Amino acid sequence: MSGKREASSRGRILGIMCVIAALCVAAAVLLWRLGRYPGESDRFIIPEHIVICLDAGHGGGDVGAVSGERLEKDDNLAMALAVRDALDAFGSERISVILTREDDSGLELQQRVDVANDAKATLFVSFHRNSGGGQGTEVWISSEGKPAETRLAALILEELADVGVSRDRGVRRGTAGNASVSYTVVGRTTMPACLIELGFIDSETDNALLDERFDEYAAAIADGILKMVKLK
Ligand SMILES: [Zn+2]
Repeated sequence: MSGKREASSRGRILGIMCVIAALCVAAAVLLWRLGRYPGESDRFIIPEHIVICLDAGHGGGDVGAVSGERLEKDDNLAMALAVRDALDAFGSERISVILTREDDSGLELQQRVDVANDAKATLFVSFHRNSGGGQGTEVWISSEGKPAETRLAALILEELADVGVSRDRGVRRGTAGNASVSYTVVGRTTMPACLIELGFIDSETDNALLDERFDEYAAAIADGILKMVKLK
């Protein structure tokens, strides 16, 4: 082979290798973006000052689900306050906790959403209890099931399951009746949000677990939140 032909074939090989390398980089970037950030709204950046919005479901005239003397609105408020206390006790200056209600006041769903959005909360967690003849704990996210809300819900449920629930019913998308619509407080809040159904109020087993492990459940939910913001 002459020196000239050798040089030109070396140049061709180099050129082909460059094209292959460029294609590999492009494919890797594309896969990374698709996997990590399916959309701009899915980015979860932890701010220096973290605001956690806790929402005790129902309140006032809206008592929620009922089982004998037991009202869902009271269980929800007690748990939201206990999680607030657990987060406060963690003692990080980076965290503030706000509540949509701190007493037995009634609030529209949109008012709860406004509290969180107006405060530009980092995360939103709503507290509820299930009813209708089942058992166990589940955590709801929006119908879209964005990565950050999925992670938040999974972290909280994992911590609760570690304490012990009668049944881990999983992270669920949408609403109980329709997977393609979201619960208002989860769907309209602009930050990663989830709604915990902490056991069934019409299950003696779940009520006994809640009463027995109340403080542990509160600490577990707080830990899930703290892990989400990488403080634990
Ligand atoms: Zn409820």
